[in-house]
Amino acid sequence: MSGYFSEILTGGKSLLVGLGVTFKAMLQPVVTVQYPREKTDVTSSNYRGHIELVRNPETGSFKCIACGLCAKACPSECITVKSEKREGVKGKVLTVFQLDFTKCSLCGSCVEACNKGAIRFSQDYNIAGFTKEEFHYDLLKRLEEMG
Ligand code: SF4
Ligand code: SF4
Repeated sequence: MSGYFSEILTGGKSLLVGLGVTFKAMLQPVVTVQYPREKTDVTSSNYRGHIELVRNPETGSFKCIACGLCAKACPSECITVKSEKREGVKGKVLTVFQLDFTKCSLCGSCVEACNKGAIRFSQDYNIAGFTKEEFHYDLLKRLEEMG
């Protein structure tokens, strides 16, 4: 009989300890958001979203010189770089920079290979789609759209 009451006491104590933890947490500041209705900015420099082109602050255009080193370094062959020669312009001009994100492993080889600092990991975490094609990114167009 004493074992029975002892179990009730232990259970009651355990319940009170649990409720104490719950009430303590209720008084703490909220650190989560109601995703996807609420969104928050990713601020970690360590976060790896898909790659994106970096803008040249002096020209307002992209930094990329279309050398193709990133595409060569990519083990998954998911980067397509195309360029053309233009009259009066030194070097090649980038015309296409596409990423097939369905094949990307976020390994970072492309970012490391670029000695111009022209690509980086984006902070874009909020991506979803119904088809594979939705993850074929035109990064040149994306940079233009970002203004
Ligand atoms: S992103 Fe860098 S490595 Fe890739 S083509 Fe442009 S300049 Fe070359
Ligand atoms: S992160 Fe890796 S797999 Fe993805 S595009 Fe760059 S090199 Fe290719």
